[in-house]
Amino acid sequence: MDAAKPPRVVVLGGGSAGWITACLLRREWGGRGGSVTVVESPAIGIIGVGEGSTPQLKAFFDHLGIAEADWMAACDATYKLGIRFTGWSEREGCESYFHPFPGPVDLHTEPGFTHNCALRRRGVDVPAHPDDWFLAATLAAGRKGPQPDANFPFPQSYGYHFDAHKLGAFLRDWAVPRGVGHRALKVEDVELDAHGDVAALLCEGGERIEGDLFVDCSGFAALIAQQKLGERFIPFDENLFNDRAVVLPTPHSGPVVPQTESVAMKAGWRWSIPLTTRVGNGYVYSSRHISDEEAEAELRAALGLGPDEPQARFLQMKVGRLENSWTRNCLAAGLSQGFIEPLEATALHIVIATALDFASAYESGGFTDRHRDEFNQRIAARYDGIRDYIVAHYRVNQRSDTDYWRENAANQALSDNLKSMMTAWFTHQPITEANAAIYGQEPAYAAMSWHALFAGYGTFPPREKMQAAPQGLDVADVEATRAMLAACARNFPDYSPV
Ligand SMILES: Cc1cc2nc3c(=O)[nH]c(=O)nc-3n(C[C@H](O)[C@H](O)[C@H](O)COP(=O)(O)OP(=O)(O)OC[C@H]3O[C@@H](n4cnc5c(N)ncnc54)[C@H](O)[C@@H]3O)c2cc1C
Repeated sequence: MDAAKPPRVVVLGGGSAGWITACLLRREWGGRGGSVTVVESPAIGIIGVGEGSTPQLKAFFDHLGIAEADWMAACDATYKLGIRFTGWSEREGCESYFHPFPGPVDLHTEPGFTHNCALRRRGVDVPAHPDDWFLAATLAAGRKGPQPDANFPFPQSYGYHFDAHKLGAFLRDWAVPRGVGHRALKVEDVELDAHGDVAALLCEGGERIEGDLFVDCSGFAALIAQQKLGERFIPFDENLFNDRAVVLPTPHSGPVVPQTESVAMKAGWRWSIPLTTRVGNGYVYSSRHISDEEAEAELRAALGLGPDEPQARFLQMKVGRLENSWTRNCLAAGLSQGFIEPLEATALHIVIATALDFASAYESGGFTDRHRDEFNQRIAARYDGIRDYIVAHYRVNQRSDTDYWRENAANQALSDNLKSMMTAWFTHQPITEANAAIYGQEPAYAAMSWHALFAGYGTFPPREKMQAAPQGLDVADVEATRAMLAACARNFPDYSPV
């Protein structure tokens, strides 16, 4: 291969990961002679339950120059201001909390929240519930959309809910006329060259598709990276127990709130995600703690559904990551690369970050593997940082009603980084500094998120050990903050997606 020329890229898989990666690599290199071809088997199909995103998906569409008006209607998409967690804690006042996507207004309110959390960690009884300090929480509670009137100069950050099947199809229809090749073929084998690099995909009917660079987006099968090249899979099952999901869509029963709901269940949690056409619901659970039949019955009861309609769909989840996302001339992206679990809806976030980081590392190395090790370390750190944040939801849970929750709360199989983060919280260290020291300058989750999680669960000294704030103590004013956020919220329109 000519080292200075962009590669011929072959993407195996036409799920969201395959099309997102194809669009991004085509945009990076297409104008300079690189080619991108997606090979997918419609008969195998896609997982297609991914329905929630982070603000990274907005950045992706902005990067490609695709307007919301063009893609949102095609994908039944709604706005998402954050996630409401309900039932994860039995502590009084902590029955539910909102994990927001932050915006510039929060730069003014977050220091007060952090300050009060620090006092509360030391046992001083001051207001420190996350719902009071972030604009996204106020907007969601008021069913407001995320885009302010023109005269309000503080943009709110947001993500989306969408139909993953329609998202993949939209991207395919956008990408193919712009030069991305598309072959609907089942891949039966992968041909390696004399050095052990991937040379071609061998397809049904005898077709052979050659390339310089291969992207494995074949889903949990990980056909190239794991099955052919033998890349090691690191399971996360020691500290993430959930391995199954049951999915049941329902019609809307009320107005759309632009938030994901995450409700704790007996052996896991369930999501509710509003699309324009329906509500997506799913129960993510541990098969060691509950059977499929029990999980389905529990979800049906929670949703007020009878035993038969609609039909439930069950999914197996392979939770963990590849040791290296980039092996030889193959990049894995999406479920083939790893999956943590959908609690924070981070899967497509990682796909986009992987594709952009890879494009930059590959190109700055002259389209060679010069920067492969650093890239792999960055991606692994990103996965492990997200995993730790998600594990923390289970580890600090304040429920005691089932073995599942008790085992999670007692789980000692934590990473050293997560142990350090929890120690920092319980020993009153400043969380911003601890986060940077433990997870580096670009941590997977900001200090705001750690504060929201710990404070949202009421992870503070118990009520009976709290002391009233002494006179003269500097306490952030929650009433003034609420009033300020309510005033800001008046600049946002009521949300009505259809
Ligand atoms: C329960 C659950 C909930 C989730 N919720 C979210 C969420 O809220 N937010 C989020 O971002 N993500 C979520 N995800 C993850 C999300 O579904 C995936 O990350 C996303 O859909 C990308 O999947 P993928 O493209 O990697 O794989 P898939 O969708 O499985 O696509 C694999 C592709 O490979 C092709 N393929 C496989 N084998 C062959 C072969 N031999 N020949 C040719 N083609 C082949 C298939 O045809 C398909 O096109 C969730 C996942 C699960 C399991």
